[in-house]
Amino acid sequence: MKYFTRLRVKRIYEWRGAPIGFNRKLKTSEYGSLSIRVEGFPQTTVIRAGQHILIEGDDDDNPYVARVLRLFADESGAQKKAVVQWFVRVSEVPPSKLKLLGRSPHPQEVFFYEGRSCEDEVNAESVLRPVQVRHLEAAAPFPVSADGDTFYVKLSWDSRTFRPVDPSLRRALPAPDPAVMRGATATPASSRKPGAEAESLHSLTKLSASKCLSAKRRGATQRTPGIRKRLQLSSPDEPAALRDDVLQQLLEAELLAAGRSAAAASPSDPHRITHSLTPRRRTSRTPGRRDDVPLTPRSSRRRESQSEMDSPSAGDDPSSRTSSRRKEVQTGTEPVLEVLDEEEENGALRVSRRKSALKVSSRIRKQLNLLDGQLSSDEDEEEEEFVPSRKELQSSDEEEEEDEELAAKKSRRSSSSHTKQKTRTPKKTPRKAGPITPRRHRHVTPSIPNRAQPARRPGNVLEEARARLHVSAVPESLPCREQEFQDIYSFVESKVLDGTGGCMYVSGVPGTGKTATVQEVMRCLQLAAEQDEIPPFVYVQINGMKMTDPHQAYAQILQKLTGQKATADHAAALLEKRFSNPAPRKETTVLLVDELDLLWTRKQNVMYNLFDWPTRRHARLVVLAIANTMDLPERILINRVASRLGLTRMSFQPYSFKQLQQIVTSRLNKLKAFEDDALQLVSRKVAALSGDARRCLDICRRATEICERSAAGLVGMSHVMEALDEMFSSPYVAAIRSTSTQEQLFLRAVIAEFRRLGLEEATFQQVLVQHQALCRVEGLQPVGVSEGLAVCRRLGACRLLLLEPSRLGVLQRLWLNVSQDDVLFALKAD
Ligand code: ATP
Ligand code: MG
Repeated sequence: MKYFTRLRVKRIYEWRGAPIGFNRKLKTSEYGSLSIRVEGFPQTTVIRAGQHILIEGDDDDNPYVARVLRLFADESGAQKKAVVQWFVRVSEVPPSKLKLLGRSPHPQEVFFYEGRSCEDEVNAESVLRPVQVRHLEAAAPFPVSADGDTFYVKLSWDSRTFRPVDPSLRRALPAPDPAVMRGATATPASSRKPGAEAESLHSLTKLSASKCLSAKRRGATQRTPGIRKRLQLSSPDEPAALRDDVLQQLLEAELLAAGRSAAAASPSDPHRITHSLTPRRRTSRTPGRRDDVPLTPRSSRRRESQSEMDSPSAGDDPSSRTSSRRKEVQTGTEPVLEVLDEEEENGALRVSRRKSALKVSSRIRKQLNLLDGQLSSDEDEEEEEFVPSRKELQSSDEEEEEDEELAAKKSRRSSSSHTKQKTRTPKKTPRKAGPITPRRHRHVTPSIPNRAQPARRPGNVLEEARARLHVSAVPESLPCREQEFQDIYSFVESKVLDGTGGCMYVSGVPGTGKTATVQEVMRCLQLAAEQDEIPPFVYVQINGMKMTDPHQAYAQILQKLTGQKATADHAAALLEKRFSNPAPRKETTVLLVDELDLLWTRKQNVMYNLFDWPTRRHARLVVLAIANTMDLPERILINRVASRLGLTRMSFQPYSFKQLQQIVTSRLNKLKAFEDDALQLVSRKVAALSGDARRCLDICRRATEICERSAAGLVGMSHVMEALDEMFSSPYVAAIRSTSTQEQLFLRAVIAEFRRLGLEEATFQQVLVQHQALCRVEGLQPVGVSEGLAVCRRLGACRLLLLEPSRLGVLQRLWLNVSQDDVLFALKAD
């Protein structure tokens, strides 16, 4: 990877002296200090408890700031660990929260981290070097010229608010003075009284890191040094080099090494080089780490005690608030299926290509529609007001436009055959019945002409019905998806409350309300976080449909998380690092990945990572993956220990006729626009074909338009019939109806096979098996391979099917070139 080719030196970490204590219960050896040196150089830097340090993190230029509380070797003695108190840099506080400061932060300001539990045990080999952290009184001015190695603390940050650092905390962790820096040699705490222990425990209750520590210390042996004591002691017996000297040494060593190993390195900015020389102890960072180093009893014990202590301090026990809402969602370990063959992978790739082609063609069509719409504007003056001028459309809010484009694409995907009629429909429908607010312009340019007249409110019942039925209108409620909503809500909420991670896989055929439901869940959760009902979390969403290449997913996620722009490779490396490093990751990240099917890559890496990251111990990541394909996880996780990922699954069933009826009715919200039997007819038709709410809404909306033109009051049977006819009377439907019995059976077989696979592609061989079965059902002689192939070719020749050109024969892949609904409609509805 390009990212890792940067210059670096090897650092060597060694304990100084013998262990100063041994914890018999936890089986850890406590050490007083750790030395760091650069390979090939004699100078060493010494890190001791009490010292402030920089710790390698996601961002090479801004390592984490922390203070060492404890140094120890794990049971095996192989791992050097440190327990730290985190400080949060300005850049780590969400920009929206920084406003709470009421002033602009100082560039070198850090905040004492007092938030909810976060990993405080780090690999000691990720320690970079010592730094200076100075406590300042709230009113004290920041120094005018600050060097890059001194940080200033005035406030603490707990993910919600800034507060002056608790004085008891400062007593417990005094401001570093040279004495502490020089040698906080651990002194046996045998003289400590039980009362003192209790006091120190009390004073540290707010500090989650210390909380863990205190809990551990309760089980510690007499020889384990008491933190509080240790930190207050200076060390007369170890006059180590002054911090600045140490730093200087290290810097020099690194510069020298840099000069040696790569003459090309630019010496112009020593500071930058220092950071780019950051050592990377990959051994402890690889995904395998979790497996190599299973949770020791100690760390799991610590977690227990931590959660015991957390719950009372978290206020009115959030779990009780939600326990009634929580429901067990089907959680399971997925079976590992057979290995996919190469061809199958290629096939999937093709589908994704085809889908992106679809996207492009939809964009083109959209533009054509737009032109059409403008040309025919005199024909349909009323609606013209909703049609934004091209300029306006181009300059309008990017995201919003893309969302509409997606909605439009979806509409076309489910009803491929009525672009002509669509030109008359408004391109922009007001979302709600209320007054139309002017659009938000993120990038306002002077050239945008404003509307000549303000947009009009929908004038009558039908017009309003049409607006409400538009697929891009946000419904006020989501009937028939209450259970799914609850389950997804509880899943994410519980992860956010517990500070853990996980992945939920939501699947279902198009138009079953997956996107609408998940987005509504996230909207409600964001609201809950805003109202402080649940801890704040970071929410990011991406959509496979919005990418031309699946690897862009990395770059998009990174940019949305950090604002950082990077190439896909670099972003992948940064995300990998972000989700595998122990770090003061205070807030859970919720990542919504819609249209996951389209992120299929030959090596399946993108999808695999999306499923894998949430399982990382430090990630605090919740992934909500939405896809049409039921068995994608099985397909991806082949050979990759699927069992480890214990996915939570949720499948959205197609809507029944009653449900579709209810959805339309609720969308209309007591607006009496339809005759009852008319609505029933649409719902029955759509339920019989696909159970796709999008299609149902489209047909209803079209029927409303027809009704408007015929100047009738209510949408009746005739309008609905006409809409249904239009929707399904494309040349494709005509072509399907004119095919032979065997060809029609073959098309049926294609759909049966697609449904079985949960995919929109199959091999000829797979379809043939279905075809033969259908022949038997129909009492026909099952077709042979060559006859079947001939049928398939004919359907390919008239473009009802798309056939894989490079491969002929039974393994040839095929796709439908029309929507499944059109096929089913053509074959069923006579
Ligand atoms: P795809 O797999 O194609 O992405 P999807 O399952 O994500 O489909 P949505 O986009 O959520 O489907 O729904 C399609 C349309 O139907 C949207 O306009 C949505 O608002 C509407 N819809 C779906 N379910 C409901 C419901 N229960 N109540 C109201 N509207 C619904
Ligand atoms: Mg969707």
